[in-house]
Amino acid sequence: MKVRAKVSAHVEPIPGEEYRYWAESDVWGTPPYLVDLIAAFGMGVCTCRDYDIAKRKLRKEGETDPIIASCKHIRRARLFWASQELIRRAAAMPAKEVEE
Ligand SMILES: [Zn+2]
Repeated sequence: MKVRAKVSAHVEPIPGEEYRYWAESDVWGTPPYLVDLIAAFGMGVCTCRDYDIAKRKLRKEGETDPIIASCKHIRRARLFWASQELIRRAAAMPAKEVEE
């Protein structure tokens, strides 16, 4: 069976920029935020206010948990990236190892 990663409702990959995404704001009418998953040594960065003020501060204080020290946009982009990567890896494995 061939599975294709669906387009996420919340993040949009930027063509030609492997780890960068436009992340939809939850506030209607607000432009999307730019997420870079590989920046900050793989912890990711985002242009939203929550990242800039709260999450960046947590990191400066020593927080290294990538879930806690990330805004929801980074978390959504990371989940989308991981989902695509798992589908890609499963496609390269023998079917009997990855079927339901
Ligand atoms: Zn954000």
